[in-house]
Amino acid sequence: MIDLVVVGGGIVGVATAMTYLERRPGASVVVVEKGALAGQQTGHNSGVIHAGVYYQPGSLKARLCRAGSAWTKRFCAEEGIAFRVPGKLIVATRPAELDRLAGLEGRAVANGLRPQRLDAAELRRGEPHVRGLAAIRVAESGIVSYPGVVEAMARRVRDAGGGIRLGAEVVGIGEDERGVTVEMATGAPIRARRLVACAGIQADRVARLAGIGDGFAMVAFRGEYYRLPEARSGLVSSMIYPVPEPGMPFLGVHLTPMIDGGITVGPNAVLGLAREGYPKWSLDRRDVADLVCFRGFRRMIPGLLRTGLGEQWNSVVKAGYLARIRRYCPELGLADLLPHAAGIRAQAVLEDGSMVEDFMFRSTPRQVHVVNAPSPAATSARPIAEAICGRVAAR
Ligand SMILES: Cc1cc2nc3c(=O)[nH]c(=O)nc-3n(C[C@H](O)[C@H](O)[C@H](O)COP(=O)(O)OP(=O)(O)OC[C@H]3O[C@@H](n4cnc5c(N)ncnc54)[C@H](O)[C@@H]3O)c2cc1C
Repeated sequence: MIDLVVVGGGIVGVATAMTYLERRPGASVVVVEKGALAGQQTGHNSGVIHAGVYYQPGSLKARLCRAGSAWTKRFCAEEGIAFRVPGKLIVATRPAELDRLAGLEGRAVANGLRPQRLDAAELRRGEPHVRGLAAIRVAESGIVSYPGVVEAMARRVRDAGGGIRLGAEVVGIGEDERGVTVEMATGAPIRARRLVACAGIQADRVARLAGIGDGFAMVAFRGEYYRLPEARSGLVSSMIYPVPEPGMPFLGVHLTPMIDGGITVGPNAVLGLAREGYPKWSLDRRDVADLVCFRGFRRMIPGLLRTGLGEQWNSVVKAGYLARIRRYCPELGLADLLPHAAGIRAQAVLEDGSMVEDFMFRSTPRQVHVVNAPSPAATSARPIAEAICGRVAAR
């Protein structure tokens, strides 16, 4: 009988194991990961250390992102992990976006940030290749490579005596009054006093193994990127974001100067037909069958048709994708959009068809499952882990 088994070797799972071991030195902890560490969302994202602009004041996202942003920068400094804080600009390019920009500015202030308002001329002076009617600048936004952060966290787990098993898939979960039995696809079951599941896009299926997966399902939203040619690497100095479209919990196609010196463009948000299929046109029969059988998905369709068809079109027609970026960076051309790997967002959707905006947990007496940890969960991983450890201790 070990103290804790953590399902999932993404940033939330590994941060949880690390935090638990810090709080209970000497505890026996094992992370079981069916693939590689940071192999899913954590290894396929924009690498932004979000400052906490967009989130409903008082929400978990708002609170944990602010705390996570500061913690991530401190952790990287301690561990010698490369990170930068170039700040971000959110740029309004059409009159209709000015009100929404003002709304975001108010939200940023309510979340404890001090955004700076720029007019068109100030924007142009700061970023000569960017055009817009107005912008807000958020100085605290940073950039990092999250797989590097997970590697350092995993090192701390191992140094504290924890185990990390890769290629270890959980296929069954049973609970009794003394503990949890975790059935593995290969090898002996694991017996633990407590279980924490941080299974990303598979969170609903893992929750169902534990009998707490009712009423929601994970829906995959592909985030497709391009990369600018090396000759364009000095194009922008900060991250450049559009004003997000209303009704979609995604931030819009942005320019991100990455930690490796390149600039990525993206991600868009299109419905994914394979939860873990990264190449374009990936399709997984089980994933599609689960999606169409889920009542919540069928109820989402009208909304998806309204906001998602344009995204789908731009995913297929590169010129459409480019047009979105040219609104704020008009000098980019089709030849500037080089291929770059996609990511797949795990978004929990309820049976009424609504997308869950905030981080969400489900619990049993001996288990805590993270069932919605979309962006900014990489930034917020440490405070999410602290919240989980608090819940585990309270049980
Ligand atoms: C395109 C994109 C851009 C993003 N940009 C940002 C950003 O800039 N900043 C930010 O803060 N966040 C960003 N995010 C969000 C962020 O990447 C995620 O919120 C975060 O990585 C979630 O971490 P996780 O550990 O919950 O999930 P994951 O990283 O997906 O890890 C879950 C793990 O569980 C494992 N697993 C699943 N089922 C089982 C099982 N049965 N047995 C064993 N293991 C299992 C999986 O193999 C996987 O490794 C972005 C996400 C995407 C997709």
